[in-house]
Amino acid sequence: MSMEDIEIISLEPDKLKKLLKENAIPQYRGEQLFDWIHRRYVTKLSEMNNLPKDFINLLGGTDRDLCPVTAGEVFTSSDKTRKMEILLKDGLKVETVLIPENGKLTQCISSQVGCSVGCEFCRSGKFGFKRNLTAGEILGQIFAAREFYFPDEHLTNVVFMGIGEPFHNYDNVLNAYQLICNPKGIGLSSRKVTISTAGITKGIEKLGIDTDGKAALAISLHAATEDVRKKLVPGMKTTLEEIVKALKNYPLPQRRRFTIEYVMVKGVNDSDQDARALVRLLSTLRVKINLLPLNEHDLSDLQTPDEERVLAFTRILTDKGLSVFMRKKRGNDINAACGQLLGEKSK
Ligand code: SF4
Repeated sequence: MSMEDIEIISLEPDKLKKLLKENAIPQYRGEQLFDWIHRRYVTKLSEMNNLPKDFINLLGGTDRDLCPVTAGEVFTSSDKTRKMEILLKDGLKVETVLIPENGKLTQCISSQVGCSVGCEFCRSGKFGFKRNLTAGEILGQIFAAREFYFPDEHLTNVVFMGIGEPFHNYDNVLNAYQLICNPKGIGLSSRKVTISTAGITKGIEKLGIDTDGKAALAISLHAATEDVRKKLVPGMKTTLEEIVKALKNYPLPQRRRFTIEYVMVKGVNDSDQDARALVRLLSTLRVKINLLPLNEHDLSDLQTPDEERVLAFTRILTDKGLSVFMRKKRGNDINAACGQLLGEKSK
């Protein structure tokens, strides 16, 4: 494969080195190229003014932009959350969201076009699965979103919680994660990059091995009994017991905790019994719980619980010593809240 057909943006330094060696290009050119892309966020070859013409031509010429995605329409919420469409070269699109809060800027990125898990409350999963994103398309969402930062904003956190089940696209997600955390590039600390899964135990195990447990892990549980889980997360075949076992085996560093995501749905998983079952299920794990009252949307009849129910549920968890965080609804007016993203064909 010639260099112009390779997704250069997704190459980690050792792979870039190998590629240059095969093409008889000095190693320091690889360092320069990596620096342009991952530290300076410059992806247009025409702007990389310290690279020789021959090398630029080998990479595809001055017309080539190494970022494989572009931003489409952008929607800004009254709370300054921004949702943007990410256009892919084959005409498909995904979405990514920028969420500012208390001086931090978190970007929620997608890992697949569509999703096969089909969570009952999720708008993103309603259109089925189309394809995996490449590592460059995952990473490219960060590059494409930069032009929509407000003044003085800089990226502090990334969450793999957009469209898709990250562990159904494990290799590309890991590749993108490693580039986001590369100290010579974007350089976010592993604590600030959270990979979320609906409960793929093989993925949990692999991530533990591949990152020495450093990758922050969130589990979208949404249920404490098998019956409720089947109803809300029908596409996931692993049992709750298997998920807890996988988490127990994860080499979680000291003083770190797993994040448990729990979308509360009226009359489905919001009773006192559900709360007590959740306490029992998590009793042997170091966790913090993100409670998120359902974001209602046009593609589902499920409803958000009453405020008193949410408070009663929370009290049962906190009385048993669990840390509970109430996730604020962000970007609700632009369908950018959790579970509301949409991936479909670009118009
Ligand atoms: S919540 Fe996540 S895993 Fe579930 S259908 Fe939506 S995108 Fe897929």
